[in-house]
Parts: sequence; C-alpha cells; structure tokens
Amino acid sequence: MSTIDLRALSLEELTALLQDAGYPAFRAKQVRTWLDRGVTDFHQMNNLPKQLRDVLAKNFTVPGVAIARKLVSQLDGTVKYLFRLDDGETVESVLMQYKHGWSQCLSTQVGCKMGCTFCATGMGGFVRNLSASEMLAQIEAAQQDAGVRVSSIVLMGMGEPLDNYEQVLSFLRMLQEKGGVHIGMRHISLSTCGLVDGIRRLSKENIPLTLSVSLHAPNDAIRSRTMPVNRRWPIADLLAACREYVEATGRRISFEYAMIDGVNDSDACAQELAQRLQGMLCHVNLIPVNAVAGKKQQRSSRQRIQAFMEILEKRGICVTVRRTLGSDINASCGQLRRQTDRQEEGKEALSCIVQDKPM
Ligand code: SAH
Ligand code: SF4
Repeated sequence: MSTIDLRALSLEELTALLQDAGYPAFRAKQVRTWLDRGVTDFHQMNNLPKQLRDVLAKNFTVPGVAIARKLVSQLDGTVKYLFRLDDGETVESVLMQYKHGWSQCLSTQVGCKMGCTFCATGMGGFVRNLSASEMLAQIEAAQQDAGVRVSSIVLMGMGEPLDNYEQVLSFLRMLQEKGGVHIGMRHISLSTCGLVDGIRRLSKENIPLTLSVSLHAPNDAIRSRTMPVNRRWPIADLLAACREYVEATGRRISFEYAMIDGVNDSDACAQELAQRLQGMLCHVNLIPVNAVAGKKQQRSSRQRIQAFMEILEKRGICVTVRRTLGSDINASCGQLRRQTDRQEEGKEALSCIVQDKPM
C-alpha cells in the first residue's frame, strides 16, 4: 500500500513507525531533513540504506510540487512560481524579499469558489482543495530552488483558506514542528474574503497568527457587486465577527482594500469606511488593484489613493499603502496559471496577457 502521506506524519510518528520496522531514531530525522530540502524521491536520499529507501518507496508517498514555470522580477528579485502538483493541476506561489528576510505567499486551493469580480483566480472557478502536505511542499520547493530560508508566510495565494479549513489548520500545525520547515505563528498571515463561520472558528483555536480580511468596500451595495460572498455574509455580520475575533485573541486585524478606479475609491467611500471601523483594533492596507486580462478594472491614481488614505488617517484609522513587489512579473496570484493554461491552449500570447505597471 503506497498511500500514507509521509509529510503528514509528525517526527515522533515517523520515528515510532521506523523503530517498529527495526530502524534507529536518527533515520527519521534524516528523512525529514531530505524533505525539508525539497527532495521527495526516496531513491535520492543517499545517506539512507538502500533497503530502507525501498521500504519507504513501497509504503509512503510524498505529495510534491514541480516547478512548471518561474519568473524572476528584474526590479526587486521577487520570484513567482507556477507549481505543478502530482495530478497535473497548477498553483502559484510568490517569494518576496523584505528587510527582515524572505516571505512566501502560498496557495491553499486550485482555483476558488468565491468569484470575486476583480480576481484572476476567481475567474477559472474551483478545482480542488490542496492538502496540508501540498502547502508545505510549496515552501520546501521554493527554499530549495532559490537557496533561501523562508521566515514568514502569507496565505494569500490562490484559493480561500477558510474554505479549506481542516487542511489549512493541519498545515499550520506542521509548521510548528521543530526540526522541519518551522515557522512560528507570529510570522504567519491568513487572508480571507470574509467567511464568517470560519473566522469564528479560528478565533477559538488560540493561535496567534495575523488575520487579514479582504474588505474592498465600505458598504453592502458595492461589496455585493464585487464580492458574491457578501450576499451570504454582509458587512455588518463580517465586522461583528471581526470584533469578536479581536476580543477573543487580542490581536489586531488587517483589512485589505483594493483600490479600483471609480468603484470603491471616492472620498465618500473613505468616510464610510472610517465610520464602520471606528474603535476597532485594526489596520487598513490599501492595495492598488492589479489589472487582470479580460477585466476592465483600473487601479486608482496615486493622488486618489493618497486622498483616501488621508481621510482614514484623519479619522484615526491606521493605514498603509501596500508596496508593489514584482510588478513586472504580475506577482499577484491567479494570473500566471491562467495565462499558462491559455498559452497551452494556443489562445493567447504570453506577453500580452496582463500589462501590470509599477506604481
Ligand atoms: N481568498 C483569500 C486569499 C487569497 S486572495 C482572500 O480573498 O482574502 C489574496 C488577496 O488578493 C485578497 O485580499 C484579494 O482580495 C486580493 N486580490 C485579488 N485579486 C486582486 C487584484 N486583481 N488586485 C489586487 N488584489 C487582488
Ligand atoms: Fe477567491 Fe480570494 Fe480571489 Fe475572492 S479574492 S476569488 S476569495 S482567491
């Protein structure tokens, strides 16, 4: 039987399994070290006895990701990967360098069910959830390819993490294991489009990650037009869940707000947003929206973003404008997969799919 996912086992579980089969404890550590280095083929684990390599190959699988495409930004060194999963599906992941180290943006699903109108991932619909192991594999593969150590992650790639709750939580637990990839909860951000039941559940888990909520509008009329999830959980319900989250965890929430020209960027929108967030322990992150092929949306002008920011600041809301990393390689997720799919179908030339200009 070759169906046990080796990555899903803790080091203790793997040690116990190997000891039962007559191998000393250090063999389990050696196996884990290979996995951390991104090596998933047992036959390449050349410090293990051949017999153990055969036993492992017969009894375990290690879901892996292979690099299908890679783009490196000439502006800031950001690396964007298109990873191919074992069943041929593809997901994106982005590696970014900050002063404090390397941060990686990971995918949690192939596609997404949520259908936000401004998002490239939402356009292709939903294919499947990723397993916890496939999430970890994205880090191992990027670390190995780029020769760097990832010190923080954001679950902001393709998919809605709270729509794949169980696997995301087991992935977060895997990261806490010493000896493995190991990234502490304080270096993890999870972004959600606002699944209220998921936020409530998360607030009870007692894990100190940073929660980002994609708000993108100050009222239901605008939000329901751009984010269908708002019809299920309108802003009042979402913000109530956010306030409960802050109360339960003591942690500040980050609200993502993509600035779309003429849609959600007026002074009135800023005033309404300030009103709604009054008194909440939060931070607003303004993101100039990225162009997506086939969609008319334009990012707001610099002046508009500045004016919007000043209104929020005057009303006492903590606000920043997101730095655009990798803008020459369309670093926001969902676009590379679409353009590669289309290119393979011969429908579109790569260079004209998305024209994303640096701010
Ligand atoms: N599904 C989750 C996480 C993945 S999307 C969520 O929606 O929060 C990660 C972030 O990218 C979200 O804030 C999302 O709203 C934003 N986003 C999607 N498409 C975008 C675009 N074209 N330009 C800028 N941000 C975008
Ligand atoms: Fe899904 Fe997030 Fe894109 Fe919305 S923005 S479609 S929730 S990935």
